[in-house]
Order: sequence, then C-alpha cells, then structure tokens
Amino acid sequence: MINDQVAFPLLTEDEIRDVAGFGRRARFEAGQMIFEVGHVRADYIVLLEGRLEVLDTSGDEDRLITIHSSRGSFLGDINLLAGIPCNIFSCRTPCSTEVILLPVDNLRNMMIHCSSIGEKWMDAMLRRREILSQRGFDGLRIFGCHGDAPTLHLREFLYRNGVPHRWIDTGDSVNAERIAKLGEGPFQFPLVTWSRKVLMQDAKVPKLAYFLGVRRPIPDEVFDTVILGCGPAGLGAAVSAASEGLRTLVLDRMGPGGQAGSSSRIENYAGFPSGLSGHDLAMRSYLQALKFGAVFAAPCDVKEIRTDENGLHTVHLQCGTVAKTRTVIVTTGVSYRNLDVKGLNTLRGVGVYHSATLVEATLCDGRPLHVIGAGNSAGQAAMFLSKHNANINLIVRGGDLRKSMSSYLSERVEANPRVNVRLHSELRALKGVDMLENVTIENTSTGEISEEDCCRVFVFIGATPCTDFLGDDVCKDERGFLKTGADVVACGKWPGKNRLPCILETSVPGIFAAGDCRSGTTKRVAFSVGDGSLAVNCVHDFLGTYD
Ligand SMILES: Cc1cc2nc3c(=O)[nH]c(=O)nc-3n(C[C@H](O)[C@H](O)[C@H](O)COP(=O)(O)OP(=O)(O)OC[C@H]3O[C@@H](n4cnc5c(N)ncnc54)[C@H](O)[C@@H]3O)c2cc1C
Repeated sequence: MINDQVAFPLLTEDEIRDVAGFGRRARFEAGQMIFEVGHVRADYIVLLEGRLEVLDTSGDEDRLITIHSSRGSFLGDINLLAGIPCNIFSCRTPCSTEVILLPVDNLRNMMIHCSSIGEKWMDAMLRRREILSQRGFDGLRIFGCHGDAPTLHLREFLYRNGVPHRWIDTGDSVNAERIAKLGEGPFQFPLVTWSRKVLMQDAKVPKLAYFLGVRRPIPDEVFDTVILGCGPAGLGAAVSAASEGLRTLVLDRMGPGGQAGSSSRIENYAGFPSGLSGHDLAMRSYLQALKFGAVFAAPCDVKEIRTDENGLHTVHLQCGTVAKTRTVIVTTGVSYRNLDVKGLNTLRGVGVYHSATLVEATLCDGRPLHVIGAGNSAGQAAMFLSKHNANINLIVRGGDLRKSMSSYLSERVEANPRVNVRLHSELRALKGVDMLENVTIENTSTGEISEEDCCRVFVFIGATPCTDFLGDDVCKDERGFLKTGADVVACGKWPGKNRLPCILETSVPGIFAAGDCRSGTTKRVAFSVGDGSLAVNCVHDFLGTYD
C-alpha cells in the first residue's frame, strides 16, 4: 500500500537464511491476530509465505495501514529495540501465513552479526515512523489545555522519548466534539487515551512512563558504567561504551536529547552538510546505543552518588531507586536559569520556556514572541520559531551578536525578515495571571522602556551546570562546572597517591565528567559527543580493560 523502498525493503534469500538462525518459524491461521496494540509480546517478524495486515487502532476508526505480502518483508517498530513492551499497531493474518519470529534479544544479536540486515532494519524503522507522522497516525492522545504546565511536561516527555502522540487542546472549541466523545465527565486533565479508551486521568510523567515501559526497573546488578544525562555527551558515551562491550546504563530526568534535542537544525556537526535536527541526532544515537545493548531509563532524576571504601558507586534517584556501578560518567549538561525579572517565575511553563521544539511552537499564536539571549541556542530558537511565527524579537543585551553566536548563524538571523534583532535590550517585566499577556523591554542605550504584546518568551541565557547533586568531594569551579584531570590536581583535591587522574576524571576516582557540565569545555554538540566518547576511554583505563 505504501511504496517506499527505504521503509519497506525486502530481505534477500541469504538474509532470510541468516535471520532464521536467530529465530523460530511459526504458522498462523487465517483471521488470527499475531499481536495487538499494547501487547507485551514483542517480536521481530519476517514474512515467509502468506499475508500480514497491519492495523492502526489509535484513531476514531480502525484502519488498515499496510499489507505485507512479499517473502522477505518484515515487521517491527523502534519500540522493540528500545525494550518498550507495548506494540503501537495490531497485526493479523487474512490467510494461512508462515513467518520467522525473533525475540528482541535475538534481534540485537542478529543486527550486530548481520550488519546488512541491521542497516536495512534501522533505516526502515526510522522511515516508517516518519511516514506514520506524515499520515496522521495519532498514537496516544493527550487531552489538556494550552497553558497547562503538566500537559506540556507530558508532551515534552513523549516527544523526547519518541512516543507517537497527538495533543488535543481542551481549551480550543474546535475540539469540543472530541472531548464530548470521551463520555460522561467530569474528567481530570491531562487525560491520556488510546483511540476511544481512557488510559489515565490526571496523568503525570512518571506514572505514564511506567505504564508505557519507557521507565523500566533498574536491573539489580553492578554496571561497568552508569551515564548520568542523555544529551549529546551522554549519547556519545553510551554508543562508545556499549559498542565496546561495557555493561552500560543511561539515566536521564527527561529522555534522550538534552539541550540539543531542542535544536531545530544543527549545521556544525561533521558529516551532515545540510544539517540535522537535534531530535533526529538524539533518536539515531539512542537507537545505535540500544543496538549495542545499552540500557536506558527515563524519567530518572539523580539525587546523589555515594562511593564505598571499595570504590563501588551507588547512584541514588529522587524516586528512591539505586543503581550500582564501577564507574560513573556525569554528562548532566546545563540548564537555563530563570532571569530575576518580575512576573517570570509565575509564568514558567505557561508563557515562559527554556526550550523551543515543535511542542512549544504549537503553543504560539499569531502575536509577537520574544527570545532572550545571544548565544547559539537563542539564535537556533529564533530561526526555528520564525517558521511558525512572523514576529520574533531577539532581545540581546550587548551590542554585537557575532561576539557570542557562531558567524554562520548570526548572519542568518540578521538576514531573516521575521526576526527583529534588538541590541542593547533587556527584559524587565512580564505581565499575566494564568497566561502571559505582555512584556516590558528596556533599550539600555536610549533608556526607552516599552510595554509590548507578547504570546511567549523563550529564555536562553544564564546557563548553570546541573551538578548540584554532587557533594563537596567532587571538585567544581566557581560557577559549579566540574573540574577534571590536571585542574583537580592543581586544586589539591586529588586523593590518589599512585596515579594521576585521567583527563576527564573528577576528584573522585572512577567518576568522570564530559560535555557542557565539565569546566572549560566548548559548549557545542560535536565537542560534547567527542568528550563523551573520550570519557569511555578513561573508563577503560580505570577498569584496566583496554588492550
Ligand atoms: C536551542 C538550542 C540550540 C542549540 N544549537 C546548537 C547548534 O546548532 N550547534 C551546536 O554545536 N550546539 C548547539 N547548542 C548547544 C548544545 O546543544 C550543547 O552544547 C549540548 O547539548 C551539550 O550536551 P551535553 O550532553 O553536555 O549536555 P545537555 O545537552 O545539557 O544534556 C544534559 C542531560 O542531562 C540531563 N540531566 C541534568 N540533570 C540531571 C539529573 N540530576 N538527573 C538526570 N538527568 C539529568 C538533562 O535532562 C539532559 O538531557 C544548542 C543548545 C540549545 C539549547
């Protein structure tokens, strides 16, 4: 039904034979469901003979989305590799059908040993997800209001973790019929449905994450390394560590992506001449790390790390769970500080944001919006938002954008007719009760103060490292960034007597730092990815596992 060579390639006879070595043959009779939405059983399926019909049951009506009828075609979804147990489709056989079934662990093995099949599978799954979103696949439906912070949090979580979903704005009258179809109220929003079935009311991220299997129990074992943070540095470390055979756990308070996950187009990352979105980069790295066997869990907010006398570290999460490990790589990056400006704190999440993804872009109406900051993050946000809004004000404190923004980006921002770059300008106040109404901007060179209509404010200044959870034994610079290597020795905090710390080792032996949270680093995607991989070299040295 869908003619797309990348999404629906066929395995060759040789490849079918290879796959058969990792799975088992099975026959299904006409009319049998092979799996249904939400079913915990998740197998990779290769068709040998017969027909497989794939159904989307997430919308108002069930619909047939594709039919597999050629030998060597295959079924599956990204969820399989991610270990998320819920299928997002249903599959039935209209006639007697023979298939090969591969449980997920065998799939991972097969992908490593048969790289050509692994490549076809990975490309097909990513492309199928793209096709799905283009063709109006609903997935989960999130009912919640425009300015509601918990609804936004849920949407961000699902977006980060690649869970297909559609947001139904309960504050918009066009959705009245859909809301009425939920049945007799009253309802507690945010509310999550699958098709016509209400799955959860008053939904919160941790509960939904457990329900979907995105947040899974932390295995009770001692990992070789636990990576804290799943931005570019954490993902770079995860791919290197897992591919080099280290038992690896990755924890993040939100899911894959980090700051880069909110970048619409990264153009300074080698190998992607036309750029790629931060979300794509994150999803691809995430799948790559999964392929090599890394274990991911989110949302996991790290509270502290304790180290015993034998050097074993336990990572304690806010929810009370612990993870045990021989080494830790801290890649918790930075978060954007709220400015000390009147009205800003009360409007956080209902008009003030520190991220500019599709999720936030859908919240903007036709009124002007203001982006505060002059770094690459503010520039990227302004460029991205200008696709959705024609009236962007970029509020820059200094007098020269090029001093803080990469030149390729500042040139583009300055040439964009939808972005008004306002130098020597500062945000002074925000007004609004449940929703942002207007902002006050001061031009510091003329002293002019203006109250301006504004639907959203995006703040990208004052990056502070997310390192508060680390105790005093971990040496930090005056701004809280983690010192490593020679800097640790220089400040007299290195406890080792028989060796010096490696270049990315903090003042606690076996705890490493990489990316934006490390003192003195270049705050860029490429640097962070490289730094994450370098940290794995240090882990090998520490564990004595490198040849
Ligand atoms: C909008 C935007 C656009 C950008 N565009 C570009 C660009 O085009 N090119 C470029 O080179 N750079 C760009 N940057 C900068 C780049 O994204 C960062 O330098 C890079 O993401 C840093 O990676 P990191 O992994 O070190 O940290 P981060 O990306 O900050 O990731 C840290 C991760 O740690 C998690 N975390 C934090 N604390 C905890 C905790 N206690 N427990 C659990 N998890 C935690 C966070 O949830 C996050 O996922 C942009 C940044 C932004 C915000």
